[in-house]
Amino acid sequence: MTLDELFDQPVYSQPQKMKEAQLLSVLNDMDVRHRANCEPYAAMMAAQGKPKEAGALADLPFLPVRLFKSHLLESIKPEDRFKMLTSSGTTGQQVSRISLDRVTSGFQTKAVVKIMQDFLGKARMPMLVLDHPSVVKDRANFSARGAGILGMSNFGRKMTYALDDETMLPNWSVIDPFLEEFGEEPIFLFGFTFMVWKYFVRALEEAGRSVSIPKGILVHSGGWKKLQDEAVDNSTFKERTYAATKISKIHNFYGMVEQVGSIFVECEAGRLHAPSFADVIIRRPHDWSVADFGEEGLIQVLSCLPQSYPGHSLLTEDIGTLLGEDDCPCGRHGRTFAVHGRLPKAEVRGCSDTFDGQAA
Ligand SMILES: [Zn+2]
Repeated sequence: MTLDELFDQPVYSQPQKMKEAQLLSVLNDMDVRHRANCEPYAAMMAAQGKPKEAGALADLPFLPVRLFKSHLLESIKPEDRFKMLTSSGTTGQQVSRISLDRVTSGFQTKAVVKIMQDFLGKARMPMLVLDHPSVVKDRANFSARGAGILGMSNFGRKMTYALDDETMLPNWSVIDPFLEEFGEEPIFLFGFTFMVWKYFVRALEEAGRSVSIPKGILVHSGGWKKLQDEAVDNSTFKERTYAATKISKIHNFYGMVEQVGSIFVECEAGRLHAPSFADVIIRRPHDWSVADFGEEGLIQVLSCLPQSYPGHSLLTEDIGTLLGEDDCPCGRHGRTFAVHGRLPKAEVRGCSDTFDGQAA
């Protein structure tokens, strides 16, 4: 099985057992290739005594995602670098650096298209971006947010920014004519979770206004940390977004800069789905053994996309729960899970110290 063959299949069609066999062969090959082309990775694997061929997905070696903040790990020559992605960190915080070649970058774009078409269909819809236009104009501050918006713009047309650059309030002189023209047809809305919440839903609530976008499909991503601080969970988010906008199709997705393209999208039943070229394993934080269904643990993400850096198997610092396998009411196959938030900082350090020592 090659990555191209994996891409030729519908993205949620494979029953888990079959999918695991396919992923295992691709991921074992990637492990061999990254060991051959990325010396620090090979050294870490050797130091842990990891065998060269795993017999199951859970036996594949994994790196803590934090390692990409302290080390530039790549499996390509510097002249083959096509793009360097960095995570959005606050000042003084270390950011991840992810080295992409053209091949990996191409796979990332293709992956997002395959996944999003399953939820949005193939026709491009009028698109309302729940952000302000400067987020993509100001190249000096070109952020993960800007890159995410441009990535999603492939699925929309008549792209319109809903927020005012100066005030960050809903820009009615733009929104009203947009809804006048397209309000009766399917509209694609995209934004970052916190932006959607604070500057659109909450802004509507505070202004005592509402809009009617009954055929809208809202896709949002970007972490729940700030919303958790306001005690807003996914169902509250959905209920109040619906109340303010009449949008009932709302899809969150989970993904990270260390595995761009491998996104886990929330289906109509409210579960995050692993696509055909990626998977998820939940591990117990203290001994990293595999957790049972329904048991909280650290999320490990597997992806066939990272060819230019050893990011195909990463232990994140996020806590999640495996919800099911081939049994989602929406009919999609594979594993489903939920994300609950971040592991407290002190515990994260304990997990990654061993790796940092080896990679130095
Ligand atoms: Zn589902």
